[in-house]
Amino acid sequence: MAANSRGRAPGSPRARILVVGGGYVGLYTALRLQKRLKPELRQGSVEIVVVTPDPYMTYQPFLPEAAAGSISPRHVVVPLRRVLDQCKVVIGEAQSIDHAKRTATVTTLATEEEGTGAVEITYDELVLAPGSISRTLPVPGLADYGIGFKTVEEAIGLRNHVIEQMDIASSTRDPAVRDAALTFVFVGGGYAGVEALGELEDMARYASRYYHNVKPEDMKWILVEASNRILPEVGEVMGSYTVRELRRRNIDVRLETRLDSCQDRVAVLDDGSRFPTRTVVWTAGVKPHPVLAATDLPRNERGRLKCTAKLALDATTHAWAAGDAAAVPDITAAEPGTECAPNAQHALRQAKVLADNVVAALRGRPLTDYAHKYAGSVASLGLHKGVAHVYGRKLKGYPAWFMHRVYHLSRVPTFNRKARVLAEWTLAGLFKREIVSLGSLEHPRAEFELAAGGQRPKESS
Ligand SMILES: Cc1cc2nc3c(=O)[nH]c(=O)nc-3n(C[C@H](O)[C@H](O)[C@H](O)COP(=O)(O)OP(=O)(O)OC[C@H]3O[C@@H](n4cnc5c(N)ncnc54)[C@H](O)[C@@H]3O)c2cc1C
Repeated sequence: MAANSRGRAPGSPRARILVVGGGYVGLYTALRLQKRLKPELRQGSVEIVVVTPDPYMTYQPFLPEAAAGSISPRHVVVPLRRVLDQCKVVIGEAQSIDHAKRTATVTTLATEEEGTGAVEITYDELVLAPGSISRTLPVPGLADYGIGFKTVEEAIGLRNHVIEQMDIASSTRDPAVRDAALTFVFVGGGYAGVEALGELEDMARYASRYYHNVKPEDMKWILVEASNRILPEVGEVMGSYTVRELRRRNIDVRLETRLDSCQDRVAVLDDGSRFPTRTVVWTAGVKPHPVLAATDLPRNERGRLKCTAKLALDATTHAWAAGDAAAVPDITAAEPGTECAPNAQHALRQAKVLADNVVAALRGRPLTDYAHKYAGSVASLGLHKGVAHVYGRKLKGYPAWFMHRVYHLSRVPTFNRKARVLAEWTLAGLFKREIVSLGSLEHPRAEFELAAGGQRPKESS
């Protein structure tokens, strides 16, 4: 989409709302905008353009269950074009934003193919929601051997990888190879790390019954956390319970410990221990998306966009933000200066207020403040295992796991997704769990290349 190619320059009769990001905030904001702006969209006085790299929104809280095989990858994502049928969805990435000129520079799949360079999209109102990326540290070997846990590709890749390691362990005669294959190191004890580890360990434990020579006690699962607690989201008491529960399952939880290096496929911890391993999963927090640095918009010292409680950018007009990328004041907190934490609970609710405020601004009506008191959290630790601390109530084991499922089923966008996920869970209750690895899907041309005289690609992870 070239500059003004849709006929819109700032100030002309059709107002263009540009939404950057198709995650929680992007999807929910655009959904609400297309609902609330129906008359304007029909008259053609408003258009909504959503720019995002993937044609789907990922429901991240379901990634651990996708890794465990309890939900198929297609059902943890929501197809944007179908859901946002009143919006223009552009599959691309914003590279920079010049808000003074109301212009975003965007690369799309087509610009890459054509080699023409980025295109410019002008706008009247900007909703900036590119979320966050993994916060990494300069740990030697991490970039070569580590994997994150933020995308559906990573979750499914990790599932395939774990099952593949069990296959390697089952077929090797070399004890060192077997030991490294059966050692899984997770760094970071927030919900992404704990849930991913809990679900994958549970899946691998189950899968081991189908291996004649791999037993659950042969596997080493290690959780490395720099602070003295895990799962801060569920509070101290339930965090301690989670540590005990994971240790009861023979998971080696190391608090106040850091990963120093994972060079040459050896995880070295700062307590002096060394673990040869082929699996290092990095979930040690997030940082705001780097595209924010390529804008002329106000950011705080941590790089998040400075917002008011109305979700407008501070000291700026016609620009809005929410979610992981935004520093939104938590006006319900006792301590002044507190920001809303980067989580789905806030992202979802902020998106609603943000969209309503954009509509109010377009119609010249007063704006509303965002206020939501954190309700607590639920986390799954594997099939029928969980932990929760919600509205002051603490739950563990099966009730917490059940609550986790009910809560997320109620939250996953669209009735279609809810129905599919529920159907999958119901079927999984009737049949045995899937333990197949489809890692070869990552190299679809391998078989043909071999037939055509090439060589099989070497496994890299
Ligand atoms: C494994 C996992 C489990 C989680 N579980 C929970 C949970 O149980 N409860 C909870 O409250 N929270 C949970 N979270 C956190 C929650 O998912 C995030 O807080 C939430 O997704 C933030 O929403 P967002 O819209 O800001 O970012 P995202 O949902 O990440 O969306 C950002 C979007 O912007 C797009 N984008 C990035 N760069 C660009 C660009 N340059 N141009 C255009 N688009 C771009 C991305 O592709 C993405 O679509 C979990 C996160 C993970 C990773």
